Amino acid sequence: MKILLANPRGFCAGVNMAIQCVEEALKIVGSPLYVYHEIVHNRHVVNRFVKLGVVFVDSIDQVPARSTVVFSAHGVSPAVRASALSRGCSMIDATCPLVTKVHMEAIRYAKQGFKILLVGHAGHDEVVGTVGEAPDAITIVDSADQVEKLPFTQQDRLVYLTQTTLSMDDARVIIDAIRKRYPQVKAPPSDDICYATTNRQLAVREIAQNADLVLVVGSKNSSNSVRLTEISQNGGTRAYLVDDVSEIDHAWFNGVNTVLVTAGASAPEHLVEEIVDDLVKRYGGTIEELHVVDEDMHFELPRSLRVLRSQPA
Ligand code: SF4
Repeated sequence: MKILLANPRGFCAGVNMAIQCVEEALKIVGSPLYVYHEIVHNRHVVNRFVKLGVVFVDSIDQVPARSTVVFSAHGVSPAVRASALSRGCSMIDATCPLVTKVHMEAIRYAKQGFKILLVGHAGHDEVVGTVGEAPDAITIVDSADQVEKLPFTQQDRLVYLTQTTLSMDDARVIIDAIRKRYPQVKAPPSDDICYATTNRQLAVREIAQNADLVLVVGSKNSSNSVRLTEISQNGGTRAYLVDDVSEIDHAWFNGVNTVLVTAGASAPEHLVEEIVDDLVKRYGGTIEELHVVDEDMHFELPRSLRVLRSQPA
């Protein structure tokens, strides 16, 4: 069997930075270390940190007063920050800078009196955080059908923003519907769908057409991983999202000559390696790495962590 490996795949700069934040904070603060929401949406990453003494919480009320709390890569609303502050907590903000960029846009446009159409999935941690920056100004739009039901007129000052991890194709359909109904709508200064989401989707779209089957390594709550699976399926190639090698059903491989393996932005590379090793053992064959886009993005650790690091023990 031919095994194709998509490049780029796996960890993005934001995930690398967020994971490093927790590792460094554990060294400085020790356990238990509190992290608000899953640091990144990957079961293996989260379980590893739980074993090291990290306590993941979904409410700041679960963080003891005056403890240190890390905010996940998906970002938080000002209400969450205020709640942590009121409990006397030290905060380490591992929000990806590309999510922060969308927060800043939301704040700026709301101040300028715009109504903001946030294209994204209601309930996703990132969307919840962004909405919290300007709750009275933001309306979440998650489908083209929904655009028809929006209460705004062509006289309203409107701008659209997007979640960072959307499918580029789905976002385009929704944005086209918004533009059609509201020709006056303003676009964000630059694309909100991030470079990592874009590049992983471009790679899958290009390579999947040469494969009989696509395996996407990632967790079910990872938005960008789910989108990779959908893109492959929409292009006509069967695709499955697996957390690790144990979730593979070998009935999938009947009649398969070429399989493409990729990974969402929060999936560790060792999970890809374990899958590839297993496939080679079972089916033999060749491995080919296909480079579609080069990436060299890197994000500095947040200031809050650097300050904590510089304080005497
Ligand atoms: S997927 Fe994009 S927005 Fe999300 S953490 Fe990675 S770089 Fe940041």
